[in-house]
Amino acid sequence: MAEQFDLLIVNAQLRGRPGVPHSIGIRDGKIQAIEEVLKGKAKTEIDAHGNLVSGSFVNPHLHLCKVYTLEMMDEEALKDYHGEGMGKAMTAIELAARVKEKYDQSWIIENVRVAVALAARFGNTHIRAFADVDGKAKLEGVKALIQARQEFKGIVDLQVVAFAQDGIVREPGAADLVRQAMELGANVVGGIPWIEFTDEDIAEHVKVIFDIAAEFDKPVSMLVDDAGDPGLRSLELMAQETIQRGWEGRSLAHHARAMALYPKPYLQKVAALLKRAQMGVVSDPHTGPLHARVRELLEEGVLVCLGMDDISDAYYPYGRNNMLEVAFLVSHLLWMTTRQEMGTLYDMITTKAAEAIGLKDYGLQVGKTAHLVVLEEPNVLEALRSHAAPAQVISHGVLIDQAEVGKLAGR
Ligand SMILES: [Zn+2]
Repeated sequence: MAEQFDLLIVNAQLRGRPGVPHSIGIRDGKIQAIEEVLKGKAKTEIDAHGNLVSGSFVNPHLHLCKVYTLEMMDEEALKDYHGEGMGKAMTAIELAARVKEKYDQSWIIENVRVAVALAARFGNTHIRAFADVDGKAKLEGVKALIQARQEFKGIVDLQVVAFAQDGIVREPGAADLVRQAMELGANVVGGIPWIEFTDEDIAEHVKVIFDIAAEFDKPVSMLVDDAGDPGLRSLELMAQETIQRGWEGRSLAHHARAMALYPKPYLQKVAALLKRAQMGVVSDPHTGPLHARVRELLEEGVLVCLGMDDISDAYYPYGRNNMLEVAFLVSHLLWMTTRQEMGTLYDMITTKAAEAIGLKDYGLQVGKTAHLVVLEEPNVLEALRSHAAPAQVISHGVLIDQAEVGKLAGR
């Protein structure tokens, strides 16, 4: 007797099994069967026409409260962040903070909806989304992201990061605001230790962030060493604190651009520490002139993945919430162009990104919740070449209705 599914995908090309079409049966939100020949019926059947079907895209780093604020800024912050070997990255952050004097949930949410609808269109079903929390932004960004998390529930999952963008020690009151954001329902505690003025303050920042994480029993995401200074040590400090606190597997580093300038022996020490701390690094080589040493970290066996980072804000003018586009750009920036390297790039926007943000119920395996993309291309090479929107996106076992998602974004 034919098995009954809610959703059946036929003629699917799977990674690692070229030329052998498969069928995928989904019921009650879960992947129930993946077979070459699957005798099943379904309310909805999708013919993949021999194109690639994989786990959906995962974006482990996006400053979602700032999307589409570029128009509100002059270009001084962008010039400072991208210029002179990133020597003025701190000034850039100070300039970019000016937009937050106008922060209000009512206009932020409208921008957020447009960006999250784009994520749905481009098959990006999970986002670790950062909201600035500081004396200017207050809780306006966090409130907007929590609102969006509710509105897009079941379509795009948002992990809201309460992010102390302007510092903890140098920004009095920021730690209390982060605590209030966690009480409102933020999912992750976010810091940026390198922005403090002294080594003692950097250490204090790391400590305070982990104190709050322990208080609320939540994971930590920190932007580390995001300037052109090889002497910055906040990544190392974060890894040490992760081990001391027993926060292994719940601690994620972002940017780490100073790593580009580390002497090799120091890089190897940090890589060893990262592995002990079970800490991943999210790199975004397209949004800054320096970037984490992705290739070497991969060789050392460190968990590395790619993030979108910004969409049209004071730090980066482009971005469509399209992770295939990010992988395409990174392929050029890091010259990862062999078939094997393209496969690694694809892992860094799917499975590795999912692991980095702690998604357990994810992956193209029987028993997992179905978060999938049905692409218009038969393999990773062609998918990267066109970096087009998937033919179909499945979230929580349900086909996303893109017209409905467009309506959510007011289109
Ligand atoms: Zn960032």
